[in-house]
Amino acid sequence: MPFFRRFWLLTLALVLAGALAAPSVTRADAVAEFQPTPTPMPRGGRKVLAAPWPLQNRFTVPAAQASATPMPPVWLPPAYPQPWAPTPHDHFLFGRVFPPGFEDIPIADYRFAARSEGSGRLHGGIDIPAPFDTPVLAIGSGRVVWAGEGFTFGRERNGDPYGLAVVIRHDLGWQGQVLYSLYAHLETIFVQRGQWVPQGTAIGLVGSTGKSDGPHVHLEIRMPLRDDAPLQHAPLLNPELWIAPPVGWGVLVGQVYDEQGRLWDFGTITIEPRDWTPEVRALWQGRRLIVTHTYGRAGGILRDPYYQENFALNNLPAGRYRLVIELGDQKYEKVVMVYPGRVTFFLFTPEDGFEVVQ
Ligand SMILES: [Zn+2]
Repeated sequence: MPFFRRFWLLTLALVLAGALAAPSVTRADAVAEFQPTPTPMPRGGRKVLAAPWPLQNRFTVPAAQASATPMPPVWLPPAYPQPWAPTPHDHFLFGRVFPPGFEDIPIADYRFAARSEGSGRLHGGIDIPAPFDTPVLAIGSGRVVWAGEGFTFGRERNGDPYGLAVVIRHDLGWQGQVLYSLYAHLETIFVQRGQWVPQGTAIGLVGSTGKSDGPHVHLEIRMPLRDDAPLQHAPLLNPELWIAPPVGWGVLVGQVYDEQGRLWDFGTITIEPRDWTPEVRALWQGRRLIVTHTYGRAGGILRDPYYQENFALNNLPAGRYRLVIELGDQKYEKVVMVYPGRVTFFLFTPEDGFEVVQ
């Protein structure tokens, strides 16, 4: 999607650049701690959910008309109930960003910590495209700590890259830390600073305000490590590890090293489905594979304490996927299984290739 390539959200650079001008978002309220008790798998949880409606409906409404036309039902299953934690290491605390009937699949090749061409700046969240005026929901309950323009540079400066944005301080924390979600480029905002919102509250509508070339939500999850630091400086977590996958779908997480034994930074991973189920066909939209990237050594990114990942991809229908890594003049391949509701973790080193740990 080329227009998103031109959209350079400068999260980390702007976090630094905005240090002086940025309004400080303060923290209040006590936070409940998420207790990582494994969520029992529902009966039949390993079965792939069948598409409940004809798949072709997904592509029948042109984006330009979509806001004026009722959306047809889509094939995307609902998310697992949250918090979703099939193992004590998992923390899928949050729900989906759009209501049922709307798709919320992030752009495949411009995900968390992707870099824009040219400037090389890091992308601090995920971009989820949707027609203008699609309702945007709070992914978890909490207090609105920011609502409006100027999150990065302050209200007095025009042209904030986030445009109209909402930030929620969530009721549920994790490992003694507070979690925030940020929704950028909104067309309209329905909430006010200080307001408490339950999960699923419509906080605004999809737009393209700020530094954006098309309607989408830029979603971030931030976890400040210091109480007195402004939220604009808070480290960024990969949302793919925090939003519950659709029922019957899973998550692929990896730790990928380069020839020097360091986490491979901005390496390319190619993912090709081996089971062309109707869900996979609909998700891949005619593509044979998707290309995504690793991250790791960049500042401002917080890797998961358990997985220590530098690669994570949520929203994968259960099934087999072929992973390809090209490093130097070597090509490495592995077929991995993604299970419903679960994380498939792999380790990759050039010496030993792929090692999959289910
Ligand atoms: Zn973005």
